[in-house]
Amino acid sequence: MARHTGPKCRLCRREDQKLYLKGERCHTSKCAMENRRYPPGERTFRYGRPSEYAIQLREKQKMKRAYGVLEAQFRNFFQKAEAARGITGENLLSLLESRLDNAVYRLGLAGSRSQARQFIDHGHVLVNGEKVDVPSYQVEKGDVIEITDDMKENTEVKKYTSLAEQRGMSGWLDLEGGKARGKVLRQPERSDVNDVEFEEQLIVELYSK
Ligand code: SF4
Repeated sequence: MARHTGPKCRLCRREDQKLYLKGERCHTSKCAMENRRYPPGERTFRYGRPSEYAIQLREKQKMKRAYGVLEAQFRNFFQKAEAARGITGENLLSLLESRLDNAVYRLGLAGSRSQARQFIDHGHVLVNGEKVDVPSYQVEKGDVIEITDDMKENTEVKKYTSLAEQRGMSGWLDLEGGKARGKVLRQPERSDVNDVEFEEQLIVELYSK
């Protein structure tokens, strides 16, 4: 599947928020948001106030970029969120959080969501003991997620796990420390998403036009 392959830090700078796209570097002083916190490109001046549409569009772009989802896939998620019971924006975030690549990242089995996708594509991720090579796979309550034994011995992976433990595990996941294995305790909720600020209602308004 096509993916954004350009510089990732530009995406954070465009959204004026850390999206944590580069793993360990995002937590250091080398993060571009620490020392180049201005929009990318030559023209950094913006005239006038952005329109309502521009604000809604930026919010959608931010969410898509944070989760590494392309437009068509994002729209599919939105349609599912709309069809489900409850608040559409919250459903949308819950669906995105439930992606396998996100769960692998949140558990600290990979440094970023894009790296988690790579691990999944290469067959290094197991769900309930079975290899799953679909990054968008929706994890469910009770699922056990782990990486293959050879990856567990990888020193880089051990670093990611301790980094995830430092930033605190998401309430919907439980990491079995030292075993590079985690369990889904429940469906993710809105309050579980607290590293990037989203105003999901703006996306609902955008798609409702
Ligand atoms: Fe780059 Fe990560 Fe910082 Fe974003 S958060 S600017 S991806 S280092």
